[in-house]
Formats: sequence, C-alpha cells, structure tokens
Amino acid sequence: MSDTSLPIDAEYDVVVIGSGASGKSAALAAAQGGLTVAILEKLPETGGTSVYAEGTAAFESSEQKARGVPDAPGAHFPTKEEGFRRYTDYSHHRANPDVVRVQVENTAETIDLYTSLGITYTDVSIYAYDQPYELYTFHRPEGLGARCQEVLLTAVEDAGVEIFTSTPAKRLVIEDGAITGVVAEDSDGKTLRIAAKAVVLASGGFGNNPDLVAKYSWFPRTAHAMYQCVPTANTGDGLAMALQAGADTEALGTVMIAACAREKMLTSHSSGAGSQPVLWVNKTARRFASEEVAMSFADSGNTMAKQPDATVYAIIDQATVTHLMVEGSDIGLGDFIPFHAKLDHLQAELDEDVAIGRAWKADTIDDLAREVGLDPEVLTATVEEYNTACDKGEDPLFFKPARFLRPVSTAPFYAINMAASVLVSCGGIRVNGNLQVVDRDYTPIPGLYAVGMEASGLFGDTYNLDVPGTANGFSHASGRVAGRHVVATLKG
Ligand SMILES: Cc1cc2nc3c(=O)[nH]c(=O)nc-3n(C[C@H](O)[C@H](O)[C@H](O)COP(=O)(O)OP(=O)(O)OC[C@H]3O[C@@H](n4cnc5c(N)ncnc54)[C@H](O)[C@@H]3O)c2cc1C
Repeated sequence: MSDTSLPIDAEYDVVVIGSGASGKSAALAAAQGGLTVAILEKLPETGGTSVYAEGTAAFESSEQKARGVPDAPGAHFPTKEEGFRRYTDYSHHRANPDVVRVQVENTAETIDLYTSLGITYTDVSIYAYDQPYELYTFHRPEGLGARCQEVLLTAVEDAGVEIFTSTPAKRLVIEDGAITGVVAEDSDGKTLRIAAKAVVLASGGFGNNPDLVAKYSWFPRTAHAMYQCVPTANTGDGLAMALQAGADTEALGTVMIAACAREKMLTSHSSGAGSQPVLWVNKTARRFASEEVAMSFADSGNTMAKQPDATVYAIIDQATVTHLMVEGSDIGLGDFIPFHAKLDHLQAELDEDVAIGRAWKADTIDDLAREVGLDPEVLTATVEEYNTACDKGEDPLFFKPARFLRPVSTAPFYAINMAASVLVSCGGIRVNGNLQVVDRDYTPIPGLYAVGMEASGLFGDTYNLDVPGTANGFSHASGRVAGRHVVATLKG
C-alpha cells in the first residue's frame, strides 16, 4: 500500500521530527502562534544531544549587555556584525549569509526565553578559557543543557504540543510535490500516518551513523574506526527524508569531532589528560602535529581523524600525572575538563584502565612501546627528540609553545588510547533564511523545514569553535525561526 493510501491516524498543522533544542523551539513557536503541533521522538526520552550541551552562543544578549565587558582583561562581547563576519570568514564564505543572519539576529532571544523560564546564567565567556581566537559568546546556564531542556520541555507541554516518544518518523508523505504528513512507527511497531500541513526535520543530523560519516565526510577511511563517546539516535533519518523530497544538500561532510579516550567519557580524567597538549603519537610511533591544537577541540578532532585508524596515543610520565592532579589542567575542555581543574581521579582511573588493558604503563619507553604494540625504536627516538625540545624550550618539528613542552622522563610512563570522536554532524540539508528546505534550484519544497544540526549553512569544512556555543545557539534560533515561518505561512 502506498503511503498516500494509508488511513490517517492523526492530523496536526505541524509535525516536528525530533525533540532536542531545535525541535522543541520550533514546536513552541508554532504552538504559540496558534497551530496544532506534534513532536515525534525516536527515543523513549526527549532532549537528544542538546542535554549534553554546556553553553549556547548569543550576540548582543541581555546577559552580555548587563555584564558590560567579559571578566577577562581587554576582552569584549562581540557585536552581531562581528559574529556575522566571523562565521563568513571562518567558513571562507562557504556559509550561507541568510543562515548566518538567522544566527546573529535570533540567538539573543534564546537567552531571554530561558531567563523567563527561570534559568540563570553563571557566565558569559569563551569555551576553553585559553583560546585566544574565541569570541565571548558562550552563555553558560545553571544546570547546563540538561536543565534548559527540562524547562523547555515544560514550556512546550504547557503550550499544548503533543509529544510522542519511542515513535520514530520513517518517511514523508508527499503529494503533488508538497509535504502532507509523515509515516511513523509507534512504540508497538504499528505504522502510523500523521497528516500535517508542514513538517520540521529536527532530527539532529547523522553523527551516530558511521556509514554516512564515511560516505560524506573528508575522512572516509577512518570513519568506522572512530569512537562514539556519546551514542545517540542521530542516524541521518531527516537527511534521508529530505532527499526523498528532492532536497539539495550543502557542506554534507561537516561534523563536530573531539578527542576522547576510547571507551571513556569526555568528563573522564584520563581522557582529559590525553586531551591536554602532551606528547601525542600515532600508530607509527611518531608525532604528527603541535599538540597545542588541543586548545580547540574541533581542530584536535580534525587532526586525530586523519591519523591511521583515527587513533592516537597520549604518552605521559608520572611527573605529568602528578602535575595534572596537583596543579591542574593546562587547557580546558568546557565544563567537561575545566581550565586549571585538578584531575584528581587521574591516578585511580589510569590504574584501572591499565588493569583492564584500556591504557598502558611501563618503567621504560621501550617496554611501553611493546605493551602498546608500537615500534620500540621509533617511540624511543620520538621521546628522546621530544625531551630534547622540552630541555631547549623549542620544538623545531611543530613549533609547540614552550609552556606546553613537558618532558616524558620520570618513570613510570603511560600511554592513553585516544580517538577522534564524532559528537554531531553539522552540515547537511540546504535551507534558506526561513529554514525552508530547498531543492537544487533553491526553490522551497512546500511544507518542509530543516533546523538545528539537520540544517546546513553556518559552517564550511569544520565546526566553528571560534564562536563557542554555535551549534546550540543555532538549534534554538533556527527552530524558532522555522516555527514562526510556518505560522506566518499557514495563517497568512
Ligand atoms: C557531548 C556533547 C556536548 C555538546 N556540547 C555543546 C555545547 O556546549 N554547545 C553547543 O553549542 N553545542 C554542543 N553540542 C552540540 C549539540 O548537538 C547541539 O548543541 C544541539 O543542541 C543539537 O540540537 P538538535 O535539536 O539539532 O539535535 P538533538 O538535540 O540531538 O535532537 C535530535 C533529536 O531527534 C531525534 N531523532 C532522530 N531521528 C529521529 C526520527 N527518525 N524520528 C524522531 N526523532 C528522531 C533524536 O533522538 C534526538 O532526540 C554538544 C554535543 C555533544 C554530543
């Protein structure tokens, strides 16, 4: 039976696919505009990857205005114009200016919305505290993304939106080129046809689908070897539905990648130690970059993604373990590993990881190499060369700054198994400034929208950590803009 001849099980003005920040924002705006709205969520719980977000970007927000200047000498809060220029410059003008405008014009409203919902902002800063190029856009809410998603869910429910969890959308219903609904599956596996005048794809991209990452990203050979530190249900369903409707794509292979210790979480202290600018080698037992790149997780993710099997070993000695535990981290990774935080679980974690073969420990570099399976001669030469650079305070190979040159000389020595990890994809379905999905002639497909990490237009080839909180800021802003456009279209 074709989808159009299935009986209609329910009917709404708008169906939103996905219940993260973008889906809930779209649903709230549409419901506040007087439309009937349903959210379909694949998982038993709502929230998606948005619950992991720490901060959100905004320009000229009430929080920035109230603070006046950031809590850092010489720093300033960026204007919308500076934000606009940074997105277009960073992407080498591959970003879509209409989408960039959505971001710079609409993110401040997110801060006001959450403030009205009882959220307070502890900080408006940068992500890593030590990244000189970052703009001061990172609004850090009390309770972080998890708390924001809770209060947004309540607002959405209060606005009358119906939410169906464990109900994945499967296909769009398309009649005469226009979207007229969705085919979904309920929690009992029953096929449902839900009629709608508009459908918003808010399903978070394809970051958790290694086949699609391999197909579209610039690292097809290592995609399957990467480590998924946050398993999600973002498997590219929205992209498949958009393609079904004849959508164009843009910057498809852009993914947000970070370094993480294999089989560990981003909050783990052994992962945090391996993500510091310590000595990194790949499977050839040689260095491959200035580990200073760790200051931007997106760039260190890129650097690791192109190593054989997307695998890196962070080599540290006992003195560095003690330094990280007692004096704290040299660089930050947001709230996962705060700047200068003491990694006080590090020794216990390393001991446990070594015991189960997730990390390695030895009294000599030669033995460490054998434990890991690296060439002992090459690793010994690499460490000797690195230690000479540390002694001199100069790194002739990669020019790593002297402050990050910590020798590997005090036994025992450790190797932490690091990997490039895809957090989310952030390129994909081509949209216009109303978040309408467009075809190859840039003509909107009637009734179809894509928001959040399903929509492309903000990025070139790499996630923009110069403007921290970009993904989350965009998810909220794009959702609202799409929801309002549906209201304007359906209500004339
Ligand atoms: C660990 C981690 C930390 C992060 N931290 C930050 C941060 O601090 N700042 C920042 O800006 N960004 C951060 N991000 C990026 C984050 O993904 C974005 O901020 C953003 O919130 C994504 O929102 P979204 O609505 O597009 O997708 P999501 O929040 O992922 O929501 C997508 C939803 O769609 C559902 N779905 C998928 N397929 C279907 C289907 N077929 N039918 C129904 N539902 C479906 C999923 O289950 C999911 O609930 C982080 C990501 C990760 C993984």
